[in-house]
Amino acid sequence: MKISALTLHSIAIADPPLRSSYGLHAPWALRTIVELETDDGVRGVSETYGGERPRAALEDIRGRVVGMDPFQLAGLYGDINREAVADAGVPGGRSQEWLVPGENPLDRHNRTFAAIEIACLDIIGKATGKPVCDVIGGRVRNRVSFSAYLFYKHAGGGGDGAYADEYGEVLDAPSAVRECRQMIAQYGFREIKLKGGVLDPPVEIETIRALRREFGGGVPLRIDPNCAWSVDTSVSIGELLREELAGGGYLEDPCPGLAGMSEVRRRLLAKGIDTPLASNVAVTSFAAVPEAKALDAVQIVLSDPHYWGGMRQVQYLSHLCGVLGMGLSMHSNSHLGVSLMAMTHVAAACPNLTYACDTHYPWQTAKDEIVAGGRIQFVDGAVEIPDKPGLGVELDYDQLARGRERYEKVPFRKRDDEAEMRKHVDPNWKRVLPRW
Ligand SMILES: [Mg+2]
Repeated sequence: MKISALTLHSIAIADPPLRSSYGLHAPWALRTIVELETDDGVRGVSETYGGERPRAALEDIRGRVVGMDPFQLAGLYGDINREAVADAGVPGGRSQEWLVPGENPLDRHNRTFAAIEIACLDIIGKATGKPVCDVIGGRVRNRVSFSAYLFYKHAGGGGDGAYADEYGEVLDAPSAVRECRQMIAQYGFREIKLKGGVLDPPVEIETIRALRREFGGGVPLRIDPNCAWSVDTSVSIGELLREELAGGGYLEDPCPGLAGMSEVRRRLLAKGIDTPLASNVAVTSFAAVPEAKALDAVQIVLSDPHYWGGMRQVQYLSHLCGVLGMGLSMHSNSHLGVSLMAMTHVAAACPNLTYACDTHYPWQTAKDEIVAGGRIQFVDGAVEIPDKPGLGVELDYDQLARGRERYEKVPFRKRDDEAEMRKHVDPNWKRVLPRW
């Protein structure tokens, strides 16, 4: 079996005005849909970061991919990652402190490989009649749980204004509780994540407390301010939220850098608070894991098949974290159903996955979904592995064409949350770390 064609579809999907410490989400999120076809007519698909650079990186390896046997992935990984191995030695070189996921040049090899690997695994699954999770070693769970991913947001549904503003404006604790209630009613999530680092800490502390009052101690809570807090602020918020973040919750990237997180951990432990610290900012590659462990800076690593180098690298990470006594969760970005199914399959095949995964899926709409048959269904906050070969999804080519048309109309080719913040919220806004 040989790959005979590689097709790239650059698409745009509506994204509501969500806030984070990086700034503001633009009205459109960009994605690239990768399609591979084999000489015997099997098609594989994957979804990855959008815009010019991710597409150009995939174009660069077209000659290596077309003609290859889709089962021979280790050789492709070696070829794509030769430079990345050298880059891995750069301490802290892959931190996402200043670069949004998908824009870190040191991750480009992993991102590019992942996009091809996932489409090849879809092909392998279809060729062997097996779901992808069973191709990569077998599932340890049939259903993968996700968390309610809450954002503070401005009014608006994103896109061209024709998209419904499902959750309205959310800029205080009561509206965040309303947002969460609505999301849980629709998807059944049983864990809650709040994207913080946006409003003054007392408002975010009150939001977490209000969520605890509303949903009770059986629903774990986590907060992720993306490094917006100083060490002192992180410690004091860790103290103030010691009850709320206990029992399966965590504090995610409270402050910049491994040294800072290590100090937060030490000081919280000295006060008898063992809220675990999670990261997808300070730890974004295998090279950073031993240091994070040695400093006790991070107790939970957030994986992501899109930038950790695909599904099997996430399985290796799951194993490494298990060996080191660390937990594993999963990070996400604005995405559609193909990404969601890739995340679901790999999460199903990671024995050491200790938390519900993140997903931005509730923030996208049926209007933009490119999966045939429409949106992926959640039951009780979980996605079930479909009884179908490969990823279990096919593309809706009419929807894909609409996504490409939207992409042509979007005036930018790269995510820039800081610029969006200046354009729509505050002309003088600058990202400051730590801000509080
Ligand atoms: Mg994060």
